[in-house]
Amino acid sequence: MKSEQTTSNKSSLLSSEPGSPLIIAGPCSAETEEQVLETARRIKSRNIAHVYRAGIWKPRTRPNSFEGVGKEGLGWLQKVKQETGMLVATEVANARHVAEALAYGIDILWIGARTSVNPFSVQEIADSLAGTNVTVLVKNPINPDFALWIGAIERLAQAGIKDLGAIHRGFSTDTTIAYRNTPKWNLALNFKKEMPEIPLLCDPSHIGGRRDVLKQLSQKALDLGMDGLMIESHIDPDKAWSDAKQQITPEVLGDMLHQLYMRERKDLKEEQELLDDLSQEISSLDHELFNLLSQRARVFGKLGFSNLSDTHKTAHTQQLQESLGSLIQKAKTEGLEESYIQSVFAQVHAYASRV
Ligand code: PEP
Ligand code: MN
Repeated sequence: MKSEQTTSNKSSLLSSEPGSPLIIAGPCSAETEEQVLETARRIKSRNIAHVYRAGIWKPRTRPNSFEGVGKEGLGWLQKVKQETGMLVATEVANARHVAEALAYGIDILWIGARTSVNPFSVQEIADSLAGTNVTVLVKNPINPDFALWIGAIERLAQAGIKDLGAIHRGFSTDTTIAYRNTPKWNLALNFKKEMPEIPLLCDPSHIGGRRDVLKQLSQKALDLGMDGLMIESHIDPDKAWSDAKQQITPEVLGDMLHQLYMRERKDLKEEQELLDDLSQEISSLDHELFNLLSQRARVFGKLGFSNLSDTHKTAHTQQLQESLGSLIQKAKTEGLEESYIQSVFAQVHAYASRV
């Protein structure tokens, strides 16, 4: 990865070398011992990731799909750690998972999107972690509820967990989108603002849901100043037992990471300041627009249009048409699309005559 960035981060498992984002990679699910070890070896030999991930317990939306190998897979992760020296991570969804993962020396636990959505489950996990110094990552909840995400982090912090991080994996929404999950980048930025001390990683695999968008999503996350990426990688992606469409081989992942670049913090800071200034200006213009619209509605109300004689109704409508005509002329000189001005005023006029 090309880089100029200095990460601000602490001496935690979540800190990567200065200048490079933290990379977590590995299969969606641990399937067999051979698949887990072979993927890890190929990731390690290319020096792609700091942390190796694999789901041991898989929360599936529908029953009768592969629900993970369970406890047995923890031993395979232990072998990955011994053999490659990479840190290992897996998902936990309840107190039993926590106890088993800790017993096998798993370094990083993450709470998935189907669990972070439920305060009872998060509290159960937080209680079971009290007194440990394990690293915990919290994925955003499935639905775009910012407070739930923050709340999950707070529950863990209150249980005394110090090494915390968050993962942005997109949100399930009812709008038709290009991705499996809507990114809602603004919520990721809000997270950084609200909890600047907590490292925020992006999971482009679960946002995208397919391979061809992983690079663009990863670059976007880095451009927004995220601290790292969690990406699914499998030795034979098409044959993966879960999330086959979004997984890539360690070799493809390595090539992709080399093509990403980090923008300097300085650039990001300037961009953030500009964004803040302009967002404020846009918001105050929106308020002005609102005031003008409400003023216009009041003045139009005084006209008592429906009680006017037909002659005056026609005259008024003609006047509006002329005024709109001159605005459309003006739109051309201001570089605004005619159709835009036309449709905005069509709405304004339609509303006035309706009310
Ligand atoms: C996963 O990381 O494999 C997973 C199940 O993710 P999420 O909780 O984001 O759906
Ligand atoms: Mn997955």
